[in-house]
Amino acid sequence: MIVGIETGGTKVVCGAVDEARPRELVDEVRFPTTTPEETIGRINAFVADVEQRGEVRALGVASFGPVNVEPGAARYGYVTGTPKQGWSHTDLLGGIALAARVPTVMLADVGSAAVGEQRWGAGAGLDRVAYATIGTGIGVGLVVGGRLLHGNGYPELGHILVRKHPDDDFEGVCPFHGDCLEGLASGPAVLARWGADASSFSDDVRDARLDVLAFYLAQLAATTSYAVGVQRFVLGGGVMSSPGLLDAVRRRLPQVSGGPGAGHADSLDADDFLVAPGLGGHSGLLGAVVAALDLLER
Ligand SMILES: [Zn+2]
Repeated sequence: MIVGIETGGTKVVCGAVDEARPRELVDEVRFPTTTPEETIGRINAFVADVEQRGEVRALGVASFGPVNVEPGAARYGYVTGTPKQGWSHTDLLGGIALAARVPTVMLADVGSAAVGEQRWGAGAGLDRVAYATIGTGIGVGLVVGGRLLHGNGYPELGHILVRKHPDDDFEGVCPFHGDCLEGLASGPAVLARWGADASSFSDDVRDARLDVLAFYLAQLAATTSYAVGVQRFVLGGGVMSSPGLLDAVRRRLPQVSGGPGAGHADSLDADDFLVAPGLGGHSGLLGAVVAALDLLER
């Protein structure tokens, strides 16, 4: 058995798979993320339950961030300076008893989702895949050359500086930059600007508002493509569940990427390049499972 754990800012998803059929979750448990003690206790209880039924051979953990993902670092496996109450400088991996007993890998949640989508989801068969979550924050995971490109503090593409939409005079909500991408297009930015979440816009304003968000998200996709030449850009997260937003980003991409000759992004078919997650809500959890399986194959 392989165990995957995804600790999100609001909920934890624990899963287990059989190595013979690794894409199929044989067990899945969800619970809210509360205090570190209680949350880690419930993770350990899940693991104990799985171990009653079979030997666990590897563990993958994907966590909300910021998290230390550099093996060998003194604080490897720690959630570091997070605004989430009570979680700053929590030794998450050290609290999971199984981690001391089997090969274990720790990933940032968005990196794990990129791994899951690249291996089994919307980017399967491709070499360079990005996964972006557009939600409470904006984060991007990158798989390049079949490997996750990550370290402490990067990639941090959610904070790229973007050109402002001509109809948008919102000053942004990022505490560091104001009107960076996250400051303009994250869930809190949508709520602060319009007083409604992106799935609740009324018909008379929806198209105009989605176009503002799409203008920024298309710039993220183009910039990422220019930097590492991703072949597919997967867009997930709560804001993306707004009906029509994915198509709006597709419409904006050719214009934002500048037409022929302006780089990799201009040669892409927007409908093929910009896609929804292929693994639904399981990208992060299955990415943790993939990374754990990879440990055993090394
Ligand atoms: Zn920022």
